[in-house]
Amino acid sequence: MIGVSRRIIVFDCGGEYMTMLNPEIIRFSGPFDAEEGCLSLSGTRKTKRYRSIKVRYQNEQLQIRLRTFSGWTAQIIQHEIDHCNGILI
Ligand SMILES: [Zn+2]
Repeated sequence: MIGVSRRIIVFDCGGEYMTMLNPEIIRFSGPFDAEEGCLSLSGTRKTKRYRSIKVRYQNEQLQIRLRTFSGWTAQIIQHEIDHCNGILI
């Protein structure tokens, strides 16, 4: 998304910004059909997401963390990790 080969996402996590370096979804459950918009595209598109995901990432201190997310936050993380993988919905 920024023209630099780095895997970094920053998103609103319950009112606070959360930064993940090299995020990777290592477990997911509860698939559902979603319709999302993207700041890089106009309109919305259908995509498949999961209600719950477990993510392995490094925090800003480069410490490896594992954390489970659900709901809207999980959906945002999936969207942003797709961008890291070159996928636009
Ligand atoms: Zn997007």
